[in-house]
Amino acid sequence: MSLGEQRLFRGAGVDRRLGALHPRARVLLSQLPLTLLFGAGLTAAPAAWGLHLASGWGQSALALHAVLLLACLLVPWQRFGPLAPLAIPVLDLAAIGLSRVAAAEELPGLGVLSVLPVVWIAASQLSPAVIVSVSFLGPLLAGLPWYFAAGAEDSPGRSATVVLLALMTLAVALAMQFARVQLRRQQRKIEAKEAELQALLAESRERERLLNTILDTVDVGIVAIGANGRRLLTNSWQARLEASAATAGPAGPADPGWEEQLLLTGRDQTTPLPPGRRPLRRALEGESFADHLVCFGEAPGSRVVSTGARPLKNDDGGFGGAVVVYNEVTGLVNALAAKEDVVATVSHEFRTPLTSIIGNLDLVLGDELPLPVLRRIEVAQRNAERLLALVSDLLMSASSAVQVHPRKTDLAGLVEASLGSAQAHAQSSRVSLAMDVPAPLWANVDPLRISQALDNLVSNAIKYSPGGGAVTVSAWADDGRVLLQVEDSGIGMTAADAERVFTRFFRSPAVRDGAIPGAGLGLSITKAIVEGHGGSITCSTLPGCGSTFTVDLPAEGAPQAF
Ligand code: ADP
Repeated sequence: MSLGEQRLFRGAGVDRRLGALHPRARVLLSQLPLTLLFGAGLTAAPAAWGLHLASGWGQSALALHAVLLLACLLVPWQRFGPLAPLAIPVLDLAAIGLSRVAAAEELPGLGVLSVLPVVWIAASQLSPAVIVSVSFLGPLLAGLPWYFAAGAEDSPGRSATVVLLALMTLAVALAMQFARVQLRRQQRKIEAKEAELQALLAESRERERLLNTILDTVDVGIVAIGANGRRLLTNSWQARLEASAATAGPAGPADPGWEEQLLLTGRDQTTPLPPGRRPLRRALEGESFADHLVCFGEAPGSRVVSTGARPLKNDDGGFGGAVVVYNEVTGLVNALAAKEDVVATVSHEFRTPLTSIIGNLDLVLGDELPLPVLRRIEVAQRNAERLLALVSDLLMSASSAVQVHPRKTDLAGLVEASLGSAQAHAQSSRVSLAMDVPAPLWANVDPLRISQALDNLVSNAIKYSPGGGAVTVSAWADDGRVLLQVEDSGIGMTAADAERVFTRFFRSPAVRDGAIPGAGLGLSITKAIVEGHGGSITCSTLPGCGSTFTVDLPAEGAPQAF
């Protein structure tokens, strides 16, 4: 609101307060300035007072002033219309006219008092034409007795005074009319703005109601926090979840320290979650995350919740708080655990007889056998071994998280061993194997798991070079990380295939149409192993030009996961 509008607003406030007064008090307040000024004039010029008392004009003037003051006090103005009190200023003009006849010489400024009744009339609800006419004619007519009371020699001077006074009161009335028009225009503007504000307020209340209903209807928890950690919003679902994990502490849900009092545990549902890993604390530190699993309460009966957070930006683009969403996945996690149990049991049941079959076939192969029987037993043994490998892959790919047990390991040794065991396969496929790894190359990794990942990559490199070729395994350390690369000169892949290559059960169309065996699980397992170490794996490839798989591992091992 501009300064002018603020003043107008204050002015409108004064108007409202005057309007709230009793009609009699209002009329009296309007009359008082004239009465006081008139009284002050007579007091200041005692001769004028004498003249008033001495002449009939003066006595009539005093009597009229007194009657008007009494009328202001005694007449029940509220019973008459809003225009009735205007009789007072009109009669005031007459009283001033009479006073001028009695004492104009002693009090030459008496005529100027006509401005006060004119102001009163000009501020009324009369039409502008009536106001303008009364403002000019009233003082003019009231000046006539004084004009005619003078001798002929004074007449020119007096006529000019009478007309000038009438013109002056007319100018005052016109100025007031103009100001009133301006005032009305401004008031209309303010009223329009107020109506707009009211509409916006109603709309925002409506939106708030809608938002609250949505927040309380959804089956997820939602918390919004300000940059200082204070809660701006907690929906009812979240309030119930927090109540289920609350411990008896001094803080309440509105306190920034409330989250630390909740019984939150990690994925094992037992280890208490350190403060730095709690969702609200992470969000408050400006982190943006998704699928951060947290357990509310203690096992059994704890609730597994997947949490995610996004920071809020303030007007300057800085951190203004965050929104954290909680989605309960207890049912899903339990179902996954049950599935892992079933797969583990079934795989175990498969593995035991398969190991026994392979062992017995090994024994039989040691015997002297006719060549056709030998060939058949070798086929049976190869297929039994493939079946055992497939069962192992299925078992591993079914478990949701790969367990890694890192220790200081020489990667050069692992690469050498992997290439050694792939030698026979490479020879039969006419593929040459090469290694470019400085020895020793230390890293904090799980040797069994990394060997498994390396074996997968090397066996793929040989398998997908059907016409023979070269496979090179290189590794090097780089700024706290260790990079492992398996490069082949085989069939390669299209860009679309390369994008899906780490997806479970994916096999490229070219491979599916050919006779190269596989289940599409090796690379997804390799990826899980690498990520279990806190690393990443990428593939760059071109159809017909070979593929390069690069594994990037932190040399110090993965940070502790919760
Ligand atoms: P599998 O080899 O048992 O099919 P993987 O998960 O190891 O399963 O590989 C998935 C798919 O990726 C393969 O079927 C193949 O299409 C493609 N692939 C993997 N490694 C290579 C490679 N070195 N060269 C070309 N294609 C590859």
